[in-house]
Amino acid sequence: MTACFFLGKTKLKNFVEQLSVHYTVYYPVKSRNQRFFKKFSGSLEDIVLGEVRTFEPLKAFYTRARETVAVNFTDSFPHDQDQPFAILGVKACDLKGFKIQDFVFGDSGCADPFYMKNREQNLIVSADCTCAIDTCYCLALGIQPHPQEDFDLNMSEVDGGFVVEIGSQKGKTVVDENPSLFETVRDGHNAKKSEQRGRVIKEVEANLKKYAVPYQDQFKGIIERNYQGPVWEDEAKTCVECGACNTICPTCHCFLLADQKDGQHMIRHRLWDSCMIKDFARVAGGANPRKKLWMRLRNRFEKKFDFFPKVAQVYACTGCGRCISACPAKIDIRRVLKRLVQNV
Ligand code: SF4
Ligand code: SF4
Repeated sequence: MTACFFLGKTKLKNFVEQLSVHYTVYYPVKSRNQRFFKKFSGSLEDIVLGEVRTFEPLKAFYTRARETVAVNFTDSFPHDQDQPFAILGVKACDLKGFKIQDFVFGDSGCADPFYMKNREQNLIVSADCTCAIDTCYCLALGIQPHPQEDFDLNMSEVDGGFVVEIGSQKGKTVVDENPSLFETVRDGHNAKKSEQRGRVIKEVEANLKKYAVPYQDQFKGIIERNYQGPVWEDEAKTCVECGACNTICPTCHCFLLADQKDGQHMIRHRLWDSCMIKDFARVAGGANPRKKLWMRLRNRFEKKFDFFPKVAQVYACTGCGRCISACPAKIDIRRVLKRLVQNV
């Protein structure tokens, strides 16, 4: 499905208001040089639809950082009356995260009912990146800085509005139900869209060159070759075991279950977990296969660049660069990948 329409800038608010009839709408805004999702409550004055990915990853709308998954150990589905989300301005690197999240939580994985419900009901209105920031390296993972799949609608900013591409039946329904909002796309719009996409690709290419980032076709075997190498202990020296690299990552998905008494009820929570934390792999009796921090760092890379390509034919990294910005120890995944490729 590749039908495209034009949405004028003056009709953007009307479009979002229509979405808000069926969805709780979130849109990207910018604050202190970072982009965040904000809940729509009538105004769109601060929307920043283009630019780059938000600070928080898209996965937060699909598996919440803390989610009630059972009450009193019954099979009933808590919070099943929640309105689904319409998420605006999602970027291509976050959409690629679905390849991993679907593998783990979808039909072929553990068929998690919460995740699958969100996947079925949420609406994604993605947007092209209109610039790159220093940490962007999506092209190294074979991802273009504009969405190509896994969206319902995609918006490409052009003069006076947006080229809106339909990516699913859900997206088509939105367009069909609001015919007065959409116009025919003109040649000038398509030319502008292509020009803008080309310019952003060049910006990401400049990043790859500046940091000498290797491409994914060089990743085969890098973990096995370096398994006993010095890179892990070297790089882990500054790690403070905060887990930010995991929680901020659109592909990381590990969680723990915790029971808690809440008044008269027993509540089972599912919480995001981090494989960088010492107790993550600890088992009953206290044994821990990854006692040392450098072992946990190696495990993180092994999962992303060895395990997932073997089981799901995809690297569990989208080049979004979030872990680079979030790491207080300045452990730069691009540098680690470069060392792994060079065996140093
Ligand atoms: S490992 Fe880092 S760069 Fe790769 S997807 Fe996760 S947060 Fe983004
Ligand atoms: S974000 Fe950096 S310091 Fe924190 S656990 Fe990850 S690698 Fe270690």
